[in-house]
Amino acid sequence: MTSRVALVTGGTGGIGTAICRKLADQGHRVATNYRNEEKARAWEAQMKSEGYEFTLVKGDVTSPEEAAAMVREVEETLGPVEILVNNAGITRDGTFHKMTAQQWYDVINTNLNSVFNVTRPVIEGMRERKWGRIIQISSINGLKGQYGQANYAAAKAGMHGFTISLARENAKLGITVNTVSPGYVATDMVMAVPEEVRAKIAADIPTGRLGKPEEIAYAVAFLVDEQASWITGSNLDINGGHHMGW
Ligand code: NDP
Repeated sequence: MTSRVALVTGGTGGIGTAICRKLADQGHRVATNYRNEEKARAWEAQMKSEGYEFTLVKGDVTSPEEAAAMVREVEETLGPVEILVNNAGITRDGTFHKMTAQQWYDVINTNLNSVFNVTRPVIEGMRERKWGRIIQISSINGLKGQYGQANYAAAKAGMHGFTISLARENAKLGITVNTVSPGYVATDMVMAVPEEVRAKIAADIPTGRLGKPEEIAYAVAFLVDEQASWITGSNLDINGGHHMGW
């Protein structure tokens, strides 16, 4: 298979780590960003102990300048970015009538404006080379909404509009653009939810359990594959049957 250069944002997190591992297992050269030096070095050491070599670049995806610098550094180190996974994300939950402007803007900046910041510096190169894979990690809650997550659901739903527009603009240039919408996956983001709430969520999922990061990474690997060349503007729901239908 062709070895490509992949940039996964938020690759040091739960789902991001699984995506980095999976893409590396498939022979791709993988880079990710970090914000905290100490945390990044600990993650890098863990990955090395598992036999993985990733390129780590410093950068906050909420800053257009830092995102552009991050992409430049990856391209100088590994070559042009051919696969982009917009995965970095946060939650700052609260019912809307009590939500602060800070909670709103932090979530929109990190989950949605980041997608502009990181995709913009890679798209022209992909268009020139006539090959690319761009995947947004959205959420089940961007499709069905969630109590206390008006900010997060708005950002994640926004990813779908972005995806289907970018897919149309680039379909003739060998670039596919898709979203993956995970249900509840056992990462720090979800483990921060009180245990009794998590138990209720799991009971509500037809498979009876939370998802594993590897189950999301598998969907990303599927969309990245050379053979997935006619899948564009799609959304792949990976949620144990928690949200079915359309
Ligand atoms: P984690 O909290 O484990 O990881 C999030 C990652 O994003 C971390 O590496 C974090 O870096 C990075 N990040 C956050 N903000 C920024 C920023 N401003 N600049 C650069 N990097 C940043 O989350 P998950 O792995 O659970 O989530 C990954 C994605 O999947 C997110 O987009 C999330 O919304 C989505 N998702 C998750 C679900 C779940 O159940 N876990 C369900 C549905 C969707 P740092 O260490 O510096 O904070």
